[in-house]
Amino acid sequence: IHCSFTDKGMYDWSSEEEEPDGRARPIQVLIVKDDHSFELDEAALTRILLAEEVRDREVVAISVAGAFRKGKSFLMDFMLRYMYNLASDNWLGDAEEPLTGFSWRGGSERETTGIQIWSEVFLVDKPDGSKVAVLLMDTQGTFDSQSTLRDSATVFALSTMISSMQVYNISQNVQEDDLQHLQLFTEYGRLAMEETFLKPFQSMIFLVRDWSFPYEFSYGQDGGMKFLEKRLKVRENQHEELQNVRKHIHSCFTNISCFLMPHPGLKVATNPHFDGRLREIDPEFIDHLRVLVPWLLSPCNLDVKEINGSNITCRGLLEYFKAYIKIYQG
Ligand code: GDP
Ligand code: MG
Repeated sequence: IHCSFTDKGMYDWSSEEEEPDGRARPIQVLIVKDDHSFELDEAALTRILLAEEVRDREVVAISVAGAFRKGKSFLMDFMLRYMYNLASDNWLGDAEEPLTGFSWRGGSERETTGIQIWSEVFLVDKPDGSKVAVLLMDTQGTFDSQSTLRDSATVFALSTMISSMQVYNISQNVQEDDLQHLQLFTEYGRLAMEETFLKPFQSMIFLVRDWSFPYEFSYGQDGGMKFLEKRLKVRENQHEELQNVRKHIHSCFTNISCFLMPHPGLKVATNPHFDGRLREIDPEFIDHLRVLVPWLLSPCNLDVKEINGSNITCRGLLEYFKAYIKIYQG
């Protein structure tokens, strides 16, 4: 990845600055301010989505969402490595190479709530001969108190509305409150959209981090699907509230799947000096990264963003983004 960083993959450029050397970096396009209002960096978003090479290409928009400090940005940086080395079997890179890209870090202090996108939109040839533009989105939400839950709901809703694939990053298990949050967030989104007979959203991936029951459901996609099927099953003897959450989630997404990730090891989870190098990550985690990332991003698995049944280009996505934001700004 051709970027320069300060320690631990943290950028020290602010989002208002011009790219200092033309290199790709994360751009904060949406920020939720302390008074709960939203600010969209329309100029930055326009610069990225209306760049000549991509503006008329159909767009694949991939988002990772979920609570703070659960390894979303860390995962996004491996997704970037894959996108920059699509042709290589060794896309994971060198054992000693620090991980860079979206900023990620340990600690527990508060961060801004919002959406960042990678400034470089990737052009990818699909096996069917089409060329698509791939946009990577990292979101930040807090999910911790009533006031910030509303902000997080809006960020989650917006990122779900504009993505073709939403990766819902959750820790350890799929708990009832994870499902309730998802219901709240998607309801926020659905209310803002035109009514149609189609399901409003495309793919939802439940990505469970630090899965610790591989003897019940194995790591990866197969175990994940079996696990999720059980978790999302609507049963007659279930409380109505539990049934409704499940029916709602089924009604919102065209595809729902799940991937169970092993724990990355104590260095990743607890060492403040860890810089993301592969050598210090549990090999089992790396083995599953090797499966997860191509499963999400390999050219044959990329689905173009559709809204109301039509394929969307980067130019179209920009218009939707602006229109959706206006609804929430009310
Ligand atoms: P984000 O706020 O969700 O984007 O989280 P970050 O990507 O910034 O990571 C927060 C912390 O979690 C960092 O210290 C990472 O090293 C660590 N981390 C990354 N992936 C995992 C994981 O799968 N499990 C655990 N336990 N920690 C992780
Ligand atoms: Mg992050």
